[in-house]
Amino acid sequence: MAVIRDVMPSFELVQPNSVAEAQSLLEQHAEDAWVLAGGLDTFDWLKDRIKRPKIVVDLSGIEELRGIRPASDGIEIGAMTTLTEVVQHPMIQQEYSLLAEAASLVASPQIRNQGTIGGNVSQDTRCWYYRAGWPCYRAGGNICYADTPEGRNREHAILDADRCVAVNPSDTAPALIALDAKFVIRTPQGERVVNAEDYFVGPGIDITRLHILKAGDLLTTIQIPAQWAGAKFYFEKVRDRNVWDFPLLNVASAQFLSDGKIERIRIAVNAAAARPLRLAAVENAVRGMPANAATGEMAGKLAVQGAVPLQFNAYKIPLMRNLVKRAIGGVEEAKWAS
Ligand SMILES: Cc1cc2nc3c(=O)[nH]c(=O)nc-3n(C[C@H](O)[C@H](O)[C@H](O)COP(=O)(O)OP(=O)(O)OC[C@H]3O[C@@H](n4cnc5c(N)ncnc54)[C@H](O)[C@@H]3O)c2cc1C
Ligand code: SF4
Repeated sequence: MAVIRDVMPSFELVQPNSVAEAQSLLEQHAEDAWVLAGGLDTFDWLKDRIKRPKIVVDLSGIEELRGIRPASDGIEIGAMTTLTEVVQHPMIQQEYSLLAEAASLVASPQIRNQGTIGGNVSQDTRCWYYRAGWPCYRAGGNICYADTPEGRNREHAILDADRCVAVNPSDTAPALIALDAKFVIRTPQGERVVNAEDYFVGPGIDITRLHILKAGDLLTTIQIPAQWAGAKFYFEKVRDRNVWDFPLLNVASAQFLSDGKIERIRIAVNAAAARPLRLAAVENAVRGMPANAATGEMAGKLAVQGAVPLQFNAYKIPLMRNLVKRAIGGVEEAKWAS
C-alpha cells in the first residue's frame, strides 16, 4: 500500500531551456527519466513513492513548447500551454470552441492554471488500486483488483477491457479526436506525427501506459486542422460533483449539416475504456441522416453495442447511450459561444 507523504523524495531535477536539450536528456536517461509538465499527475506519483524516477526533466523553462499560434492549416498548441490559456484563447473560442469547453470543464481553476494540454492528454489512469501501489496487471502483477465481485469499479470501463478495466480520464482527449487533431512527437528516431485517436492505446496493446509515448519521447505540439473550424459542436461531461471532478463519461462531437442532414461528423467518448474511443460506426451510420432525436436514438444504441458492465458500473451503458444521442440529435446552437 502507498505511504502518502507530503515531501518529495530525492531525485535529480534538470531544467532544460530547449526541446533539443530536453530530448537529449530524455534519450540519455531513457527509463530512468520522468517528464514533468504541470506536475498535477506527476507529483502524486512521486510523493506516494509509487513511481521512482532517478531524474526529472522539467519542461517549464522551454518557451518553444508554450503558446497557441495560427498555422498554415488551422492552429498549433504547444504541449506546455496551460488549460486556462486554451480555454481563454480567442481563436480557440471562435473556431474550436469544442476544445475550449472541454478544457473549461477540467478540474478546478487552480488546476487549469497549472495543468498543461500535453499533460492532460498524457496523464495516467485514476484507478485507485493502481495509484495506491497495489501490484495489479497494470503495475506488472497478475490480477485486476477492480474486476472482482467486491472490487470498487463504479468509475471503470464498459468497453475494450483486456485484463485491466481502468479508464482514460482526460476531458480534452475526446474533443481533440473530434477535431481530428494531430500530435507531434519527438522521438530518438526523429519527429512523428500521429492522429489524436492513435496517440492513445488500450491494455491489449500496452497495459503499462495509456498512450504511445516511450522512454525518450516528448510530445511537443498539438495541431488542429482548419477542416472542422466553426462546425456545430457538442461537449457533455457527467461527473459526481459539478464543482470539479474527473469524468464518469464525456462525449465530444463535431458536425456539419446540410439541409438539416448530417453531412460530416466526428464523435468520441472518454472514460468508457482505457483509451478515448472514436465512434466510427456511429459516424458512418448517421452520415446523410437528419440531425434529430430519432437519429440520435439509433446512434446511442449503436454506440453501446458490445458494452460489458462490471459489478457497479452498469449505469454507464444508458449514460453513454444518452450522451451519444444528445451529441447527435441535440446539437445546440452556440451552447458555448456566450
Ligand atoms: C484533483 C485533480 C482533479 C483533476 N480533474 C480532472 C478532470 O476533471 N478532467 C481532466 O481531464 N483532468 C483532470 N485532472 C488532470 C489535470 O487536469 C492535469 O491535466 C493532468 O493531471 C496532467 O497535466 P500536467 O500538466 O499537470 O502534467 P504532469 O502531471 O506533469 O504530467 C502528466 C503525465 O504526462 C507526461 N507528460 C506531460 N507532458 C508531456 C510531454 N510534453 N511529453 C511527454 N510526456 C509528457 C508526464 O511524464 C506524466 O506522466 C485532475 C487532476 C487533479 C490533481
Ligand atoms: S483496473 Fe487496471 S489499474 Fe485498476 S486494478 Fe485493475 S489492472 Fe490495475
